[in-house]
Amino acid sequence: MLKHLATLLLLFTLGTSPLQAAEPDTATPSVTPAAQAAPPVLDPKVATQAFMDRLQGEARAKSDSYAEGGYWLLLWNLLYGLLVAWLLLSRQISAHIRDFAERRSQGKHRQVLIYALIYTPLTTLLMLPLSLYEGYFREHQYGLSNLSLAGWLGEFGIALLVNTLLMSVALLGLYALLRRQPRSWWAWGGVGGAGLIALLIMIAPVFISPLFNTYKPLPQGQIRDEILSMARANGIPVDNVYYFDASKQTKRVSANVSGLFGTTRIALNDNLLQRTSLPEIRAVMAHEMGHYVLNHSFKLALYMSLLLMGGLLFIKLSWDWAAERFANRHGVRGISDPAGLPLLVALLSVYLFMATPVFSTIIRSAETEADLFGLNASREPDGFAEAIFKLAEYRKLQPGPVEEFIFFDHPSGYQRIYAAMRWKAEQRATAPAATPSQP
Ligand SMILES: [Zn+2]
Repeated sequence: MLKHLATLLLLFTLGTSPLQAAEPDTATPSVTPAAQAAPPVLDPKVATQAFMDRLQGEARAKSDSYAEGGYWLLLWNLLYGLLVAWLLLSRQISAHIRDFAERRSQGKHRQVLIYALIYTPLTTLLMLPLSLYEGYFREHQYGLSNLSLAGWLGEFGIALLVNTLLMSVALLGLYALLRRQPRSWWAWGGVGGAGLIALLIMIAPVFISPLFNTYKPLPQGQIRDEILSMARANGIPVDNVYYFDASKQTKRVSANVSGLFGTTRIALNDNLLQRTSLPEIRAVMAHEMGHYVLNHSFKLALYMSLLLMGGLLFIKLSWDWAAERFANRHGVRGISDPAGLPLLVALLSVYLFMATPVFSTIIRSAETEADLFGLNASREPDGFAEAIFKLAEYRKLQPGPVEEFIFFDHPSGYQRIYAAMRWKAEQRATAPAATPSQP
């Protein structure tokens, strides 16, 4: 449940993992039929189908089952989170934490802070079994993780510290609003949430990402030159490219253009450098630049703040009903009492669960825009299609339309490769790599 809140906030480093991929091709590592043949008239459907045909049988089933397991995990996370909330309320653990905070301090702010400093680690630890399955065992089962258990737990600990800090700030603000603006707290809460999200986007590349990975300047060479050239052509204010050691955690390829103002940074991970060709790197980086140029961070912060506002309104409207059943008789004095936080978080997680299609669609729309921007900026339809194909080990290639609408925060592999092949057919892209974005 806490995870939902954290996800909501942390997703807005959207830049941070938009394009991730898996292992090198388990199918054929050679050139695609489409790229090789270059027929006079390219049929995008046929070319896309050729990609689909490259992932068949067991590999395809594994990719589908990883994705489908992820859908179920949304439900398990909700149910497990509700169970934890029920436990904290019905055993009066939450009320005891509040009483402890009140004995320690007279000030309302300090009481909330003390409550938050106990609540966040406690719920994180109670959720640990599910987190361990989702983040460690499942990833290893599908061959996507490179982390040892000790390494995973170490990162879990760092994330816990960061989350505790962020939750404390968020809760101090939220309870101050609940006490002072009993009628309009939900609206101000949405505005405050947007502020926190924007702050996170700004500080994440500088203060949070380096807690998990080492960032180094990419050495001089063709890759760096081409990335910087594309950055200049698209008005991105950077003069350096970084790479980071993601291979210690995962086999996925990823890259990002993140930050705001002075913290803007282009970074790609070592998997991308090692597992893909220059046209693929150019295509992926151009997609990431699209997020930056199209101001997706700002737009998503705005949309998410509206979504959060809706969630806070949902809490306000359903509080009396829910508190009567689950909180009042367990020592919770009202909505502005921190002891009611488990109920508040439970209501928010129910709302976010129901809002999954909205959430997916908001992000998927931005990803579609970045894909098209990337094709135009890199002029690498084959490189893009190849990179997308590499994502297929953990992203279902061809979901049904309803499935894609509800669960996909990126367009499906089929849609993305089709967009690249259509671009190639219609824009008559010339040879990749040799001709960077010239008209
Ligand atoms: Zn993206």
